[in-house]
Amino acid sequence: MEKRLDKHKFENLDKESLVDWLKERDHDLIQLLHQKAYEVKVANIGNKVFLRGLIELSNKCVKNCLYCGIRCANTSVDRYELTDEQVFEAADFALYSRYGSLVLQAGERVDSAFRKRVTSLVKEIKRRTDNRLGITLSLGEQPEEVYREWFDAGAHRYLLRIESSNPDIYSKIHPNDSLHSFDTRLNSLEALKRIGYQTGTGVMIGLPGQTEENLADDLLFFKSFGVHMVGMGPYLKHSDTPLGQISSGTSSMEMPLKMISLLRLLMPKINIASTTALQVIDPFGREMGIMAGANIIMPNMTISEVRTNYQIYENKPGVKDDATVSKSKLEQNLSSKGIEIGWDEWGDSRAFKEKHEVNL
Ligand code: SAH
Ligand code: SF4
Repeated sequence: MEKRLDKHKFENLDKESLVDWLKERDHDLIQLLHQKAYEVKVANIGNKVFLRGLIELSNKCVKNCLYCGIRCANTSVDRYELTDEQVFEAADFALYSRYGSLVLQAGERVDSAFRKRVTSLVKEIKRRTDNRLGITLSLGEQPEEVYREWFDAGAHRYLLRIESSNPDIYSKIHPNDSLHSFDTRLNSLEALKRIGYQTGTGVMIGLPGQTEENLADDLLFFKSFGVHMVGMGPYLKHSDTPLGQISSGTSSMEMPLKMISLLRLLMPKINIASTTALQVIDPFGREMGIMAGANIIMPNMTISEVRTNYQIYENKPGVKDDATVSKSKLEQNLSSKGIEIGWDEWGDSRAFKEKHEVNL
């Protein structure tokens, strides 16, 4: 065991040892892996958890990803778009809740009205909060000039999951057309990095046909791409989707938690999110993710009136709660586990900061 966790091998875990770990069944060994990952996190970036208040701006989407509950072909979804006022109220909530930063997420749209709206929302949030909130965007694939416009408006982090780094798996979980191309996804990630965003990506764990070898390749992809942030979560079923009809989704915490720990060992200084999807499998899923090496949580701040309409998967937790209830539940859960929160901090990726300083 100690040999497998040899300190000098942490950052050079090769594919074979990653696969071994992902196949490991011994409970005690797996616990030790999580402990090691936690120690590596504390030694490299400290023990604080940073919060990003999540605003689900709209569930309108032009895409048809085969796994997602708000795909455009799902006609049973009530489509909504938050008003500017609702977005600003949520931003104010993040500010006085001392979250430090927020995420604007939505289904994908590439029309110019959407582009302009996001630009003005980002500028206005920056202005009214006096640049005190960091802004992360998660708005899908966009032309490079759009990414640049939003960056210039003040967004400085972007989340775009590769979903699976294996092009064959990617093509099996998306429609076979030019709107859902693996190459475009990858090019978009490269554009984000080029522009200067702290770039985040991630995968779903437990996809039909996905093997431990594929997951090990996903981890190695994050490393070779040099991402600054990762958000991975279990693939979860949504019955109104083609994938949900043939697969029941992930029901165990084991693989997602191992993925978090192995990634922390591979990339000690990046930001790793403990995703809401973990909470579907276990009510304390997000706290378990933190104990396994993650350092970011994204509490939902979307107003309760529309939360039920943003169901990318079934059994999404807290859809009946409002932002205040989500906040107090999260704080209770974190403090019951003795987890410290980085209030009022942007919580930028240490990996990004150090790279940036070297480049200056
Ligand atoms: N439209 C944007 C952002 C919203 S979707 C985008 O696609 O990037 C955000 C993430 O939700 C996706 O990247 C995907 O990984 C995740 N997701 C969608 N459906 C899911 C499901 N059934 N189970 C788990 N995660 C899912
Ligand atoms: Fe749209 Fe994102 Fe869902 Fe794909 S995953 S259908 S792009 S919201």
